[in-house]
Amino acid sequence: MNTVTLKPSKEKSLLRRHPWVYANAIDRVDGKPAPGATVLVRAHDGRFLARAAWSPHSQIRARVWSFDENEPVDHAFFKRRVQRALAHRQAMVRGTGAVRLIFGEADGLPGLIVDYYIADDATNPVALADAGKRGQIVCQFMAAGVEAWKDAIVQALTGATGCPNVYERSDVSIRQKEGLDQTTGVLAGDAPPETMIVSENGVRYHVDVRNGHKTGFYVDQRDNRALVQDLSNDRDVLNCFCYTGGFSLAALKGGAKRVVSIDSSGEALAVAKQNVAANGFDAQRATWLDADAFKTLRRLYDDGERFDLVVLDPPKFAPSREHVDRAARAYKDINLTGLKLLRPGGLLFTYSCSGAIDAELFQKIVAGAAADARVDARILKRLGAGVDHPLLTAFPEGEYLKGLLLQTA
Ligand code: SAH
Repeated sequence: MNTVTLKPSKEKSLLRRHPWVYANAIDRVDGKPAPGATVLVRAHDGRFLARAAWSPHSQIRARVWSFDENEPVDHAFFKRRVQRALAHRQAMVRGTGAVRLIFGEADGLPGLIVDYYIADDATNPVALADAGKRGQIVCQFMAAGVEAWKDAIVQALTGATGCPNVYERSDVSIRQKEGLDQTTGVLAGDAPPETMIVSENGVRYHVDVRNGHKTGFYVDQRDNRALVQDLSNDRDVLNCFCYTGGFSLAALKGGAKRVVSIDSSGEALAVAKQNVAANGFDAQRATWLDADAFKTLRRLYDDGERFDLVVLDPPKFAPSREHVDRAARAYKDINLTGLKLLRPGGLLFTYSCSGAIDAELFQKIVAGAAADARVDARILKRLGAGVDHPLLTAFPEGEYLKGLLLQTA
């Protein structure tokens, strides 16, 4: 078996069950592992540490499959991991047709994202167990290991869920770091419909798994959309970076008086408008602005517009550590104007999905924005992704989405 031996004392993070082996921790490689091949990782003194997937092109040179010396990596391994992940979601996630079924490292499958959509059918409540043909699984393979085991993973997914349809959305630039090309296409079953309707918290959304962002929908914001729905009654709401209207529809469902939404993607806004119709909401309550959020926030402020609830859910401003300073300025900019747009007692839901900006730094940035805006802002709640995006205690890097719910005095 191909074996990777670490430099002295480089075994510490693996002993704490952190699942990555960096190139600079490796002393020598015995054998010639192909990309994605399983390697044994040993400490300098020869002790077994883990079985891992070999990523020769990446600085993250190996990703751990298992810390158990007696657990081989084979078809049965992937079946077990997928079944465990599904059982966790079945027990924990309710009231939605959009679930993150596999969240990479946290589900013991590093580099794999799987979302599971179930088409809405008014006569049947959403049930992960027996969606069958109404289901659509969407995968992103982002590391050499899961790429090498793609067939086994697809079999495990269809077997565990009973859903025959699997589509790949590996059109993500991160694959470059693994020496992999971007790719999309049907992996099993039927081609996905042009658009499917899924329900979440009683709201119907169009999801286009082929052309939408990521896997089609921002599944991670489910609980936060529910909170916005709860707090929107009779309020004037502003939703910035609205995409297909996730938070906007939640606010409309929650009884918002009026919802103004901004996004620079005309295509996303077209879907958002279809979503209003699909839910039978009065289109008069919703205004959609196809525009740059930075400029529009300032313009709304200058025009004297004010809101009771503002959502800021921008794209990842810091794709990596080098971008943190510029991203911090961008977060501060929108949060500053977002806070100024609130009436007294107004609520700000503000997020960052940049992995390179941790919760502490994000809070500092928002605090700086409040100081510059000269408003007293109180944190009511710290926010994050839903329970289908678990966070391994050994792997804090998994926490990419963080948010704050603030109230102005
Ligand atoms: N809140 C959404 C997801 C937001 S994704 C949901 O719950 O579904 C981020 C969105 O920001 C994308 O739709 C993208 O088109 C939009 N965007 C990116 N840069 C922008 C800018 N400068 N101004 C306005 N929208 C922008």
